[in-house]
Amino acid sequence: MDTTHYDLIIIGTGSGNTIITEDYDDKRVAIVENGKFGGTCLNVGCIPTKMYVLAADTAYQARESERLGIDLEFKGADWPAIRDRVFTNRIDLIAAGGEEYRRSDACPNVDVYDQPARFVGPRTIETGTKEGPATITADQVLLAAGSRPFIPDWAEGLDYHTNEDIMRLEKLPTSLTIVGGGFIAMEFAHVFEALGTDVTIVSRSALLRTLDETIRDEFNTLAEKRFNVVHSTVESAHQTEDSIELLLADGTTVSSQHLLLATGRVPNGDELEVQNGGIEMLPNHSVKVDEFGRTTAEGVWALGDISSPYQLKHVANAEARAVGANLLAAFAGEEPTMTMPHEHVPYAVFTHPQIATVGLTEEQAVAAGHDVTTKIQRYGDVAYGWALEDTTGVVKLVADKQSGRLLGAHYMGPQASTLIQQAITIMAFDLDLRDVPRKQYWIHPALAEVTENAILGLDLDFALA
Ligand SMILES: Cc1cc2nc3c(=O)[nH]c(=O)nc-3n(C[C@H](O)[C@H](O)[C@H](O)COP(=O)(O)OP(=O)(O)OC[C@H]3O[C@@H](n4cnc5c(N)ncnc54)[C@H](O)[C@@H]3O)c2cc1C
Repeated sequence: MDTTHYDLIIIGTGSGNTIITEDYDDKRVAIVENGKFGGTCLNVGCIPTKMYVLAADTAYQARESERLGIDLEFKGADWPAIRDRVFTNRIDLIAAGGEEYRRSDACPNVDVYDQPARFVGPRTIETGTKEGPATITADQVLLAAGSRPFIPDWAEGLDYHTNEDIMRLEKLPTSLTIVGGGFIAMEFAHVFEALGTDVTIVSRSALLRTLDETIRDEFNTLAEKRFNVVHSTVESAHQTEDSIELLLADGTTVSSQHLLLATGRVPNGDELEVQNGGIEMLPNHSVKVDEFGRTTAEGVWALGDISSPYQLKHVANAEARAVGANLLAAFAGEEPTMTMPHEHVPYAVFTHPQIATVGLTEEQAVAAGHDVTTKIQRYGDVAYGWALEDTTGVVKLVADKQSGRLLGAHYMGPQASTLIQQAITIMAFDLDLRDVPRKQYWIHPALAEVTENAILGLDLDFALA
């Protein structure tokens, strides 16, 4: 088998694909992708899930409309229509377009390989194309091969689903058991229940257990009213023609038409057999990197889910910007300068109610030795909250009394993922909270007043002139 040498090999077309800018026009690049172009976020993650969530939010509004004096009725979901709108009419076209672009004359310096990549030596990779296998080598190699769903042993042999196929079902399930209590589980629970499926959640611990305690507890109370939540672990499973039955550690059983596994994600370091390239992995198969994105092997870099402590798309993209710059420095014979941007990493959970969080929980802030002040501000106590007739929305801010710095912000309620952006800005620009309320206008009666009131509720010496 011939070996082809490149300046750069990139494995994975999620955030890895964003590296190839015009700065690389004079470099020979190989990009390897054995799935769909665009990776998890585009094809089976962030974007399609949110397109389903919007449909679910709209359906769910019917249940909440009565309190506004409106009589709305949800008559049911046309699942195939939603599925085809999301995938056939949008996502699949974008993925195909991305691949076509990389294969086209617009990218004469790029070769696309579409067979699974695995290391067979230092910076030496076996992959291939539809025409046959290929061995490729490069001066620099970038691992951006992401992560995959974790499949527990008890699920082997069952006809289970993961995020990779559940959105493409032929029909809306009548009933669904979701195993897992993280953000993927909670988003799908909202989608399916709102659209008409009977949802059971099996989770060992509290749902969204890493959230600040206040938000976590309030969310769990709401979730338990809406879903059948069982706090246990699965011991074994049994499949019949039309259902899957789980036997739980507490001796009970749950049974449903379909089973969705949302039990965490495994970085793909093992599948790339990175050890053959002299690259170290952590016990969870995450590739070990330093603050510049360098692995333990000379000339090999990693970013995103395969190596990051944060399995989030905005983090993978930010890491790609850093590694992209460091790679260019390496080609110029210079040292890397851009560190992985891991400060104040926020995330949102697009369930119902929506949740968004950044920074420390109250518990973490206290443990870190801060002189902590907190404020729990209800949406229902600000003017737009009255318009919403909101009874469950809540913001919790965690701040340091001495420095006036915001340490953490936690939102649950309408527009949480948008409202939190102001808190992210306060933290990223290291603003003193004592100046924040009066150095800017807050549009009245917009929902952002919930943030203004939350800040003013902190035990701080405000500049209120
Ligand atoms: C259901 C779900 C919802 C999500 N929602 C959000 C959200 O709302 N917000 C958010 O920030 N994040 C979200 N995420 C996380 C986000 O999708 C990931 O953090 C992000 O896509 C990781 O990007 P990446 O480039 O590291 O990997 P990926 O996008 O996964 O790209 C890796 C690529 O490598 C390819 N590959 C793997 N192994 C090989 C191999 N051996 N050879 C060749 N190619 C290979 C894969 O096919 C894949 O295309 C969600 C994830 C899931 C599963």
